Amino acid sequence: MIATSMSLLQHVCSVPIARAMRPRSVTIISSRSLSTTTSSSSTTSRASQVDPHVLLGMSEPELQQLATDLGQQSYRGKQLHHLIYQRKVKEIQDFSQLPLVFRNDLQEAGWKVGRSPIFQTVTAADGTVKLLIRLEDNRLIETVGIPVEDEKGSMRLTACVSSQVGCPLRCSFCATGKGGFSRNLQRHEIVEQVLAVEEIFKHRVTNVVFMGMGEPMLNLKSVLEAHRCLNKDVQIGQRMITISTVGVPNTIKKLASHKLQSTLALSLHAPNQKLRETIVPSAKSYPLDAIMKDCKEYFLETSRRVSFEYALLAGVNDRVEHAKELAELLHQWGRGHHVNLIPFNPIQGSDYKRPHKKAIQAFAAVLESRKVTVSVRQTRGLDASAACGQLRNEFQKSPLVINSDSLESQPENVAVAC
Ligand code: SF4
Repeated sequence: MIATSMSLLQHVCSVPIARAMRPRSVTIISSRSLSTTTSSSSTTSRASQVDPHVLLGMSEPELQQLATDLGQQSYRGKQLHHLIYQRKVKEIQDFSQLPLVFRNDLQEAGWKVGRSPIFQTVTAADGTVKLLIRLEDNRLIETVGIPVEDEKGSMRLTACVSSQVGCPLRCSFCATGKGGFSRNLQRHEIVEQVLAVEEIFKHRVTNVVFMGMGEPMLNLKSVLEAHRCLNKDVQIGQRMITISTVGVPNTIKKLASHKLQSTLALSLHAPNQKLRETIVPSAKSYPLDAIMKDCKEYFLETSRRVSFEYALLAGVNDRVEHAKELAELLHQWGRGHHVNLIPFNPIQGSDYKRPHKKAIQAFAAVLESRKVTVSVRQTRGLDASAACGQLRNEFQKSPLVINSDSLESQPENVAVAC
């Protein structure tokens, strides 16, 4: 959800960045340290299967069951839970509180924690950090950590997580869409992004937005499993979690049926079907009326306001008439909405431009005058390749498996692109 990817982050942009939350240390694993010889075909087949022997993502009762299955008392499962989610230990052999025999049994049975190394980080002047995480099959995913100090002086740290390696939807303004699609992420690969942000910042993540690489609704099972784990095991409140989508038929209703207390963010980007199809090609299979109806049902089912994300593209969807039409559309579908305006960040290979400040203000004023609650996102991490997917694209031009040789020829410093 690139366009939307930073939209929620507008909340964090209107206040000073917490200097205290700047990452204290940044681990960079050089591309030279990678060793990968896996062929793309074998990687593809392995990546499409859920690894059943990963501890990260398991609930406490599941870990207790595992302990007893391996001949231990169930409290060992509790200890496992503590080590994985509180102490954030990455290797089974480092579970020093557990008996050696238990650790060996876990390893012999093929279990692993399920944490991946951080391949690269880029820190923006405002404290935002983009991480590239190298998955087991050597694919790279992007995660963003956004530190903020609110008006009361308390710290908030938002993790913007990916749900897929790349994205198949190819929205016209999106860096991830241009980079192609590889595979869905497994639940632990989503959860570990949050733990990686905590590791970098040495601070608890308070908010999670599913607005990184990929369309979460195309990987709903893993997203829901990760959501459960983040809520119950990592202890992040459901209301602090946002799931975003450009709209995939029959999935919003499914999400609503889980009655999560999390925010749905719908990437709208246009006030009518015709214009939307030019910006979001996948809109052809999901008419605007059907999307709005499903969003209304989400609100009725969960009582959670839907956030409509609107990337402002100069000369395309940023005129006053578009704002009027958008207000009409929203009022037609009742209450329970909010609009996030996201002035476009130019990306390489895109003709879209960022609107002038006056056009942005005029657009917002029209919505406000029509009683639509609206906010304008300020760009975070401008010098850290702000649009999701850009950083990953710098390192991994192909959605397929990387190899160390090609990586070595990639730039060490990521270009400022948006
Ligand atoms: S191409 Fe995918 S990741 Fe990019 S905005 Fe569209 S749905 Fe989101």
